[in-house]
Amino acid sequence: MSEFELIRDGEQTWDVVVVGGGTAGLSGALNLARVRRSVLVIDKGEPRNAPAAGAHGVLGREGISPLELLRLGREEVASYGGRVASGQVARISRDGAGFRVVIEGGQRVRARRVLVTTGLVDVLPDVPGLAERWGRDVLHCVYCHGWEVRDKAIGVLGNFHQALLFRQMSKDVTLFLHTGMELADEQWEQLAALGVGVVDGEITGLEVGGQDQLAGVRLASGRVVPVQQLVVAPRFLARARFLGELGVTMQEHPMGLGEQLRVDASGFTGVQGVWAAGNVSDVLAGVPAAAAAGTTAAAAIHMDLLKADAEAAALAAKGGGVFSAAMEAEVSRRMQGSRAHGLDSFLSGN
Ligand SMILES: Cc1cc2nc3c(=O)[nH]c(=O)nc-3n(C[C@H](O)[C@H](O)[C@H](O)COP(=O)(O)OP(=O)(O)OC[C@H]3O[C@@H](n4cnc5c(N)ncnc54)[C@H](O)[C@@H]3O)c2cc1C
Repeated sequence: MSEFELIRDGEQTWDVVVVGGGTAGLSGALNLARVRRSVLVIDKGEPRNAPAAGAHGVLGREGISPLELLRLGREEVASYGGRVASGQVARISRDGAGFRVVIEGGQRVRARRVLVTTGLVDVLPDVPGLAERWGRDVLHCVYCHGWEVRDKAIGVLGNFHQALLFRQMSKDVTLFLHTGMELADEQWEQLAALGVGVVDGEITGLEVGGQDQLAGVRLASGRVVPVQQLVVAPRFLARARFLGELGVTMQEHPMGLGEQLRVDASGFTGVQGVWAAGNVSDVLAGVPAAAAAGTTAAAAIHMDLLKADAEAAALAAKGGGVFSAAMEAEVSRRMQGSRAHGLDSFLSGN
């Protein structure tokens, strides 16, 4: 019997199904489990920073292996009764007052609330051989890798701000204009003053040394410029297609860095019962910010469930009946009307 058949067997409706078990999802699940919510995390198991040797800037766990951090997180969730299952969610649809969560392969679970923490896809520049080196010597984030590459020969692919960020870490920085990048006069002046070299011409490939280390950047002219690290600026695309049926809103990042789910400060998506946290709704969130967002969303979901439970209990007490699914549907309808999330500005589009 598979993991999901086991879960389905009890015909349980989970208080919360968390889709994605990275830092954001596991942090949310930990906090929900600790307030005695039944919580199921469904995780495909491919966190964004998996290629990196260490997760940096993580207070108290500085440099820990990303996969070890999540292994510990899973253990912590389980220690409070939360369940973590491997799988990929294909679709989520409404099911009365709650949701039906469909996993690839056709299995289903039911949830009263959903927390989406599926992260993002880094769309890398289309240069042969570049994707294979991602997270090792092809990098994007100075806070994640800057210290580790300090004083090395660093190339930057087509991004002025990345050149400034990495110039703080090394005096040996070269900006490759590649295709389509143009610099303003003051940017040329600033780069020259900082000693950042600028190389024109399309990059057609990477040179790799004997010990599988980046050795240089090859240009269309055939020239090879030696670099030990190459910094790129991916486009960040939230993994949210599977939410299509629910009516969530995707929006362009304010700095034009990619697309993310639109949420308010609590992670609420504007769709009743659906929250999101981490990179799926904030493409710039590092590990600590993703964890914090998962925690914040967990608190908001818990409060939403508390209100629903209290209203249903009062209704049941008045009617002398029991707290039924129909009652929760009624409570849910009333809550949607009164907008219990403090989301008025979000819903009015401000
Ligand atoms: C190379 C690299 C190095 C980095 N280094 C650092 C660093 O040193 N410090 C730092 O603070 N940040 C670092 N980051 C950023 C860090 O990766 C993110 O902050 C963090 O992963 C965000 O956590 P998350 O939970 O939102 O998403 P993720 O960690 O990406 O987790 C999302 C999870 O959801 C799963 N999933 C996706 N779709 C589905 C689905 N349909 N059903 C079920 N599961 C699904 C994924 O497989 C994954 O397990 C780095 C990023 C990269 C790319």
